Amino acid sequence: MVAKRSCIIIGNWKMHKTIEEAEAFVNGLLTSYSPSDHKKIGLAVPYTAIYPLRQLVSSSSILSIGAQNMNDASEGAFTGEIAGTMLKEAGAEFVILGHSERRRLYAEDNACINKKMKRAIETGLRPILCVGETEEELASRQTEKVIELQLREGLKDLNAIDLRDLVIAYEPVWAIGTGNPASPAVAQATHQFCRRIIANLLSLEFAEQTVIQYGGSINAANAQILLAQSDIDGLLIGGASLSLATFLHIINQHYAKLSPEE
Ligand code: PEP
Repeated sequence: MVAKRSCIIIGNWKMHKTIEEAEAFVNGLLTSYSPSDHKKIGLAVPYTAIYPLRQLVSSSSILSIGAQNMNDASEGAFTGEIAGTMLKEAGAEFVILGHSERRRLYAEDNACINKKMKRAIETGLRPILCVGETEEELASRQTEKVIELQLREGLKDLNAIDLRDLVIAYEPVWAIGTGNPASPAVAQATHQFCRRIIANLLSLEFAEQTVIQYGGSINAANAQILLAQSDIDGLLIGGASLSLATFLHIINQHYAKLSPEE
């Protein structure tokens, strides 16, 4: 029997929160949230907050701290960039790669993201690979083509062992920060499609184990219905993860009803 997939809920803070604000948030989270096990909650924070937050959560196994980007080189003359080893040393456990803001604002293409994937894996950082179509691509019915290419090229030359910790985040670009999430049915169908492509690229068994998060305009009112879809294994939450009350509401609503091993 295939083991049940984990559910992983991650907040992506983007360029928000000073160290002081980040520590206040995490102190509040640790006080108000105490499930019996698991590291199924993560925060992708600004680089400056990684080390101090890891100090705060070091005795807790409930919260992972990660980064939102990294360079594909191991070191070098790349002013303003950061290496995976530096993130790892600071305490990052995962890194978001290929977020649509990186693709759109910093011209990151699939080949660039693939290099970052390889470096993240070599460094021991869990990669969260974001995929998703733009509004124009949706309108011209290109969703499947775009996502297939993002997965095929983003995961190029990586095998099932390299990718054992892989998380995919399906984030339709038209849903990010717009207040207009994908409907549960559309999200579920696209997640199923992603799983099919992963099965083609790796294996059916691998695809069945792969965690696929949904991201795009999640809030306290829509999180549960999205998580109730059989192929949605977690959330990548932008704006709604900045408020401790809202983030707590979403994770409590979900995890409170699960048994410890789920
Ligand atoms: C994101 O940017 O990853 C995201 C999902 O943002 P939001 O939740 O604000 O739409």
